[in-house]
Amino acid sequence: MKINKNYQNVKKSYLFTEIAHRVADYTKSHPEAKIIKMGIGDVTLPLAPKVVEAMHRAADEMGVRETFHGYVDDNGYAFLINAIKDYYKGFGVDLDYYEIFISDGAKSDLGNILDLFSEDNTVLVPDPVYPVYVDTNVMAGRRVIYAAATEDNGFLPMPDPAVKADIIYLCTPNNPTGAAYTRDQLKKWVEYAKANGAVILLDSAYEAFITDPDVPHSAYEIEGAKECVIEFCSLSKTAGFTGTRCGYTVVPKALKADGDLNAMWMRRQTTKFNGVAYVIQRAAEAVFTPEGQKQIRENIAYYQENAKILMAGLDRCGIKYFGGKNSPYIWLKCPDNMGSWEFFDKLLSEANVVGTPGEGFGENGKGYFRLTSFSTHENTREAAERICKMLGK
Ligand code: PLP
Repeated sequence: MKINKNYQNVKKSYLFTEIAHRVADYTKSHPEAKIIKMGIGDVTLPLAPKVVEAMHRAADEMGVRETFHGYVDDNGYAFLINAIKDYYKGFGVDLDYYEIFISDGAKSDLGNILDLFSEDNTVLVPDPVYPVYVDTNVMAGRRVIYAAATEDNGFLPMPDPAVKADIIYLCTPNNPTGAAYTRDQLKKWVEYAKANGAVILLDSAYEAFITDPDVPHSAYEIEGAKECVIEFCSLSKTAGFTGTRCGYTVVPKALKADGDLNAMWMRRQTTKFNGVAYVIQRAAEAVFTPEGQKQIRENIAYYQENAKILMAGLDRCGIKYFGGKNSPYIWLKCPDNMGSWEFFDKLLSEANVVGTPGEGFGENGKGYFRLTSFSTHENTREAAERICKMLGK
């Protein structure tokens, strides 16, 4: 028996462990400290009432012979797929029923999709970015190259004609930088992918946070995108499903490749995945009802208000930041050229506020820091005040 040695090349994910250690050490010597966690990448508001109601109803159905549900068909239940189809129509995008695949969240599909591609593809990943893209490719032994996301390009790297990539990950709105591609910028990526016979794996987990009308809600708003983009969507941040687990992946039939990727994905999923629970798909369906949309929007608005509170605080103390407008993340430049960890320690010890050092998301994250808007209004306000006070503002 030989193990997959590629796992030895996966970087230890020490970021959140290291944060926890530093916080634990600090609180041991300062038990009185009232720590505010502004690094949370998880939602904190409960599920919308409409969603919970649907879950209860579906659970009751499962206990009655006539309404019990066993294995799920193909790509998911029709009631949810059709609700998603209608949601896309709202962006002017027409999807075929069999282009939508219900998933247990974006993370699994972002990794699993790699089953469809040869190991000798070159993979282009933005830096900094959500670490899952790099790790899943390293596990499979693929070559990963990076597109630098820096202050100069607004943390939105554009295609470089001199670089040949086969698989391109884009995360927009981005975790951790909060930056989001406009329609024109995304169009350039679509053109590049089509010219190079590449596929774009577009992670759209933060779509619901978009406020800028120039930022598309789906890549398929761009002409030709169905020929080169697979879109990964999640209800985690949209509707608080981080612990409930449901998302959807769009694999267009028009994708250009030396095989039918849509048919391959259907084959892969029906072989290795047995679908998302009926109760959860009913809960997801409720998200797309008018009342469900109203309720989840109220939660998103709550987080967006937190982002505004943080941005106003950072403006007040003259800290340069990015994001926050189309995303729950605020990406700030550490003041006085401090390193990410140096700023982390200062913030922890002098303001008792915890955030996430940018370098945990890639080399280009050095000197940057991520704050999130998933806390309460009260804590967010208090954190903003403490940061300003720490900086003498
Ligand atoms: N994609 C990005 C960019 C994320 O930040 C996250 C979670 O933090 C995910 C995907 C995971 O989504 P899901 O909960 O649907 O697996």
